[in-house]
Amino acid sequence: MEPVSHSFPSFDNSCIKAATQSLYDGDFSGIVSKEQAEHSLSCFMGTDYARLTSSGFHALQAALIAIGVKLGSKVIIPTVTCPSVYHAVVSVGAIPVVVDVGSDVPLIAEENVRDLSLPPDEKYTFIIPQMFGLSRNLEEFPSHFNIIEDLAQRFTPYISSSAEMGVVSFSPTKLLTMGYGGAVVSNNRSLMERVSHFLDPDHTEYTLFDPGTVPFRVHSSVSGFQCAILLAQLKRYKQVIKARAKLVEAYDMALGDPERLQPEVPFRYQLILRNGSAPIIAERLRERGIMAYPLGSQLLHNVFSLDGKFDNAEKWYQTILSLPLHENLTIDIIQDICFIVRRLLL
Ligand SMILES: *Cc1c(COP(=O)(O)O)cnc(C)c1O
Repeated sequence: MEPVSHSFPSFDNSCIKAATQSLYDGDFSGIVSKEQAEHSLSCFMGTDYARLTSSGFHALQAALIAIGVKLGSKVIIPTVTCPSVYHAVVSVGAIPVVVDVGSDVPLIAEENVRDLSLPPDEKYTFIIPQMFGLSRNLEEFPSHFNIIEDLAQRFTPYISSSAEMGVVSFSPTKLLTMGYGGAVVSNNRSLMERVSHFLDPDHTEYTLFDPGTVPFRVHSSVSGFQCAILLAQLKRYKQVIKARAKLVEAYDMALGDPERLQPEVPFRYQLILRNGSAPIIAERLRERGIMAYPLGSQLLHNVFSLDGKFDNAEKWYQTILSLPLHENLTIDIIQDICFIVRRLLL
């Protein structure tokens, strides 16, 4: 069969028209459309503020700096996430403390944090990635933690009230894309002012009257045509969710309602294998041109050779098989994939 990618961006004519119009208008700097896109995104998320960046990575950097993470501060992150999260922490001079994930779902859990025995009088910063479209209830974490909710993989119209800030990514492997791009969203005005300073190396928005209080700044721009695409994409959100939900249904039917992770939004389709090893089966599928992966994420402790106990993450890596899910698939292709998957699972 034709090669099938694991995750692939989708767009329709409305996005092509919007991008073309923006190029005709010559809005390369995005000054006009950026304000509009940020307004639409904050309305969509139900937050008071949204600031666009050129990537989720820059959004994480901005959130960490705004929240007051300093040289040598510790930032707690789970081993099941994108390596970018680790690099973002390192890039602001902080130290990533990588912990295991829960036994119920492959997301960081309160029990993983309890294992760290943190002194109760210190304020720690956490990045909590809602991986694979899954959702961890953040209220279970102690309220004195600073929480950045990483919504790159669970793009839904809200952030947890327990999170100070949320970050979004519009990279071409996410639910919605604007080419590349990201955003910080929050209801906290002073944090968002710091985000704005951080993202303003030319002092154009805050002028030289306000030196700001951030230690350094980054140039993280989005162009007019990216903003135009984002505006068109946000309007497609419900349609995208519906199309993906149909594909999930097709998988469930073809595989006979298998045991799988139950994401809040249909971002990934991930089987929980009771026999067979996910890394081996994923490799067999990729040999046949079907881009499947164990878990759907690397484990940071393996990528960065870190010491520690990561038993749950290792177990998830062996048992979860992530199959292709995106709107470029058809029900026929899914049936073909499932035919091969069933044979490999026998
Ligand atoms: C993709 C991703 C990021 C990084 O986003 P980019 O836009 O690619 O920089 C951060 N966190 C998670 C959980 C991601 O999946």
